[in-house]
Amino acid sequence: MSSPARRLIVVSNRLPLSFSLENGVLKSSPGSGGLISALEPLLKQHGGVWVGSAGTEESSAVHEALAEAARKHAFGYSPVFLTEEEQTNYYEGFSNEVIWPLFHDLQSRCRFDPTFWDFYRRVNEKFADATAAEAGSEDLVWIQDYQLMQVGRFLRSKRPHDRLAFFLHIPFPPPDIYAKLPWRREILESLLEYDLVGLQTGRDQRNFIACVRHFLPKIEIDKIGNGRVLRAQNRSVHVGYFPISIPFRDFEEQAKQAEVEERLRELSEQSGDVRIVLGMDRLDYTKGIPERLRAFGLFLREYPEHRRKVVFYQIVVPSRETIPEYQGLKEEVEQLVTRVNGEFSEPGWTPITYMHRSVPKHELLALYRAADVAVVTPLKDGMNLVAKEYCAARVDGGGTLVLSEFAGAAPEMRGMALMVNPYDETGVARALHQALVMTPQEQKRRMRHLRRHISRFDLNWWRDQFFAAFDAARAETEDGNREAV
Ligand code: UDP
Repeated sequence: MSSPARRLIVVSNRLPLSFSLENGVLKSSPGSGGLISALEPLLKQHGGVWVGSAGTEESSAVHEALAEAARKHAFGYSPVFLTEEEQTNYYEGFSNEVIWPLFHDLQSRCRFDPTFWDFYRRVNEKFADATAAEAGSEDLVWIQDYQLMQVGRFLRSKRPHDRLAFFLHIPFPPPDIYAKLPWRREILESLLEYDLVGLQTGRDQRNFIACVRHFLPKIEIDKIGNGRVLRAQNRSVHVGYFPISIPFRDFEEQAKQAEVEERLRELSEQSGDVRIVLGMDRLDYTKGIPERLRAFGLFLREYPEHRRKVVFYQIVVPSRETIPEYQGLKEEVEQLVTRVNGEFSEPGWTPITYMHRSVPKHELLALYRAADVAVVTPLKDGMNLVAKEYCAARVDGGGTLVLSEFAGAAPEMRGMALMVNPYDETGVARALHQALVMTPQEQKRRMRHLRRHISRFDLNWWRDQFFAAFDAARAETEDGNREAV
């Protein structure tokens, strides 16, 4: 089922383009992050419409830039404009100071401000209105992620027969953590308005089902294959897990392009015999960057034979800079880089090269190819596409992945990546050593398995699984509707 004849309406917090004013001139730039990396290729393939916020400044220049982008791609953009107050309370507040930390098991970072909740609901209704204006009754309306969990409720109340699906890109927490959320019932009830709720991993599905059992005990739950069907009063909701992935073949192709080869040659010449360890993350406390930098310092202390022979490139892509927790994190990362470099640098060798900026795609691919080791150690992560991209880019079959047990990618990569507990600095230091002394044969064996797995379970596979589950869910709903008539 590679190209179903349905129109796709993707709804996400942000459009895949962001806008800023520079000297009075509007600049648009591509958005970053896993959600955009996954959904944009799908919309380019299928056509349809992307509904999402385009910032707080509505202007004819923004509309023109979107019309221009729509002409280039095969899909349209439907912008939602937020007020500053909405942006602060719905996005920075409820989404990123309540749901984001809570769902990543970091409850002490939550700020349960009731004003945030009021705005979250209001803005979700605004998204529902914008979506209703775009969607026909046969379209598949696919709501994305934690910022928009209440959209289902508003859409369903306006248009009860719409075809609604939801995918959560971040983890779902277990009941003892979820229980802290003051609006725990409302969020679950709204999720039950979709025909299909998709989660990333089996663990997320188990947590979600456990929360439904606990907080909505009247819901009946049946098992169908790996998924579950929840039976509410007059409708059923399918729940499944669908580990998101990457367009493997595109990555592979792009990694071989001349521009990437050229940059790879430059990087290899610069580094000479010094081996490269790569960290590549959005600036986010869930990514475990300070923990990793401390572990790298410990690695240099415990395994002095690697000094002068390895350099750690840590790229940190700026993110959520208006939120206080993120500003503090940037300072902490910078202090740690300075501390480790201060302790171990020698003339002609600096152990950590730290870059705080986003990187263009060809640079990203050249870095993936140049890195002997990629170290992906989030404290918790919905999936982590960087881990999969690194393997896809390794067209030479080399490179070793050090991966956190708490990344959504972990169950797929166990036994092939070197698995670590990101809180265990000694264990991470040991894994770095192990990766660097691994024989090329062993490295290639592991990478071959990783690449085979990701090429099979790629982005198209993810889409097909999700659409097939959606069709099954709708078939049941429509049978139910016929019986009711
Ligand atoms: N990425 C990006 N710009 C950069 C560096 C990376 O857009 O400068 C992409 C990267 O290729 C990957 C995504 O950002 O597709 C990060 O996704 P991931 O799932 O690892 O984490 P998220 O940022 O979604 O939490």
